[in-house]
Amino acid sequence: MQFTTTNRGSPLLCFNGYSYTLDKKTDIQKRWRCANRTCKGFLYLDAANNVIRSKEHTCTMNNALCEKRIALNKIKNQIVETNSPIIHIFTETTRHLDDDVLEHFPEYSTIRDQGVKKRNVKNEFVSHVDDIPNSLQFTLNNRKFLQHDSGLSDKSRSIIFYNEEFIEYIKSVHVWVVDGTFKSAPNEFYQLLTFSGYIFTNIC
Ligand SMILES: [Zn+2]
Repeated sequence: MQFTTTNRGSPLLCFNGYSYTLDKKTDIQKRWRCANRTCKGFLYLDAANNVIRSKEHTCTMNNALCEKRIALNKIKNQIVETNSPIIHIFTETTRHLDDDVLEHFPEYSTIRDQGVKKRNVKNEFVSHVDDIPNSLQFTLNNRKFLQHDSGLSDKSRSIIFYNEEFIEYIKSVHVWVVDGTFKSAPNEFYQLLTFSGYIFTNIC
């Protein structure tokens, strides 16, 4: 028996291959009904989540839905709670899933775009605090990443991130690629400007 949430954040129960949404609750029991609305299957659970009563399903068992919801919620939580790259969180979580679960999974780009928005909301404070949090001042392998901050009193505040390795690398390449994006800039920032360079035929 596993408890998770629907896409809209409502409680979802996964049990014996079926998924249930919460229908009614009292202090002593909860009624969960089959998530398939054409089915009359239901469960009553007591306060300790023991099954008190149930009704047979008329729908076919569909474990894929539950596995999909559990995996999606895991991805969403990790995006908000950690600073790991979203592509790593996505690949780590989905690589053990069966094909029938992945078949109904959202595209990576959808998850990434929603995840970026959620992270931006969480990091919103960065634009109006004096001290950038430690977790953003260093790279994941603990190298200095925040190199310049013109400060809160600057009306056109600019913050520059890079590590020393990058400077050595960018000095050595013949082509620089500079991209200014407005769409992906964190909330309350005007623009995100990135510098990249060619290594062989790839831009890094
Ligand atoms: Zn059912």
